[in-house]
Amino acid sequence: MSNQVANRIRILPDNLANQIAAGEVVERPASVIKELVENAIDAGATRIKIDVELGGRRLMRIADDGSGMTRDDAILAFERHATSKISSLDDLGAIETLGFRGEALASIASVAKVELITKIDDSLEATRVLVDGGKFIDVKDAARDRGTTISVRDLFFNTPARRKFMRSEATENYHLTSIVTHYALARPEIAFTLTNNGREVVNVAPARDLRERAFQIFGAGLLDSLIPVRGGREYVANVTGFISAPRERRTSRDSQYFFVNKRFVRDKTIAGGLLEGFRSVLPHGVYPVAFLFLEIPFDEIDVNVHPAKTEVRFRRGEAVKDVIAEAVRAALSQAGIESDHANGEQPFVVNVPIPSVRDNSSSETDQGQIKFENDISFEVPIASNDVEPDQIEESE
Ligand code: ADP
Ligand code: MG
Repeated sequence: MSNQVANRIRILPDNLANQIAAGEVVERPASVIKELVENAIDAGATRIKIDVELGGRRLMRIADDGSGMTRDDAILAFERHATSKISSLDDLGAIETLGFRGEALASIASVAKVELITKIDDSLEATRVLVDGGKFIDVKDAARDRGTTISVRDLFFNTPARRKFMRSEATENYHLTSIVTHYALARPEIAFTLTNNGREVVNVAPARDLRERAFQIFGAGLLDSLIPVRGGREYVANVTGFISAPRERRTSRDSQYFFVNKRFVRDKTIAGGLLEGFRSVLPHGVYPVAFLFLEIPFDEIDVNVHPAKTEVRFRRGEAVKDVIAEAVRAALSQAGIESDHANGEQPFVVNVPIPSVRDNSSSETDQGQIKFENDISFEVPIASNDVEPDQIEESE
């Protein structure tokens, strides 16, 4: 009798669950690049090569020389909640890897056509796995050196509604170049290349430190105005990195790069601390360039607050903000930059004896400049590049 009652709740099939998760994990091509670059870094890669076509809509291919995967792992990697990085909730409290949710590959493969080729040291053969819109197509032998190459084609081919949200090729390129630049700054020891429709956009050899990497990416012009930052408070945060002298002015925050325990984040607390530190030397609406790296005790932050992992939650946000503001103020004053800005006038710079940060070892990296489609300083007015979704359809 009760069998006749119409129960309505069901467990969603895995692939549908993956596509729903992809809504949060894969916002746009740059999110795919982010997840795959993070995986390459987590696999211990020393070289990461990224090729994209049509702003990532047609193709995104990422090749690394990291650990690679066994055949079984290469198949399992596409399952929902499949990860080698944590095995208990406690692990999350001391997470050293960038990934841990085990949903990136499953999400990406559910909304694109993916080819994975991977090889570990101990195996003669590489493995090639094809997954198409979440369906396993093929697993077979292949050839390559140790490491992993993932090709993601036709993003959102099976989710037309999401495809419409992709912006112009220039806009998507801007975002994915920004992601690669972030990780290139976070990991100076890793070589990165990014090509876009065959044209080289980023090409940086392994660098000794952040300063050399910043030179490789932004060139000598910006480097000359960088001021080192160093500060911290026990149990709260340590901060290191660089800020630009006040003469280097930006109209947006796009040239501010923040990292928490080497994870790239977009964060208002850090941005707020930076601005606070600059308050007396920069007028309202003008932003400095900054590369700020925070080291924060694991029990002081929660990294698991968003599927894309670009946000963190600080246990003591105000204290973190203060640490940054203090470190920035100290760096500016160390560099001889003072201001008399009390009346809200244009601030002025009394003395700017910024140590020259160029050195001989950097000269070999001349060829490693980023060539931005639009503007080297990342001041691309994103909105103006955007086209209406129907124009995107036409361009296909
Ligand atoms: P997560 O990174 O959160 O663990 P992913 O879905 O991104 O989840 O990846 C699943 C697993 O696949 C990883 O835990 C890792 O073991 C393996 N993997 C993914 N990409 C690579 C890679 N480039 N090199 C080696 N192993 C990889
Ligand atoms: Mg991952």
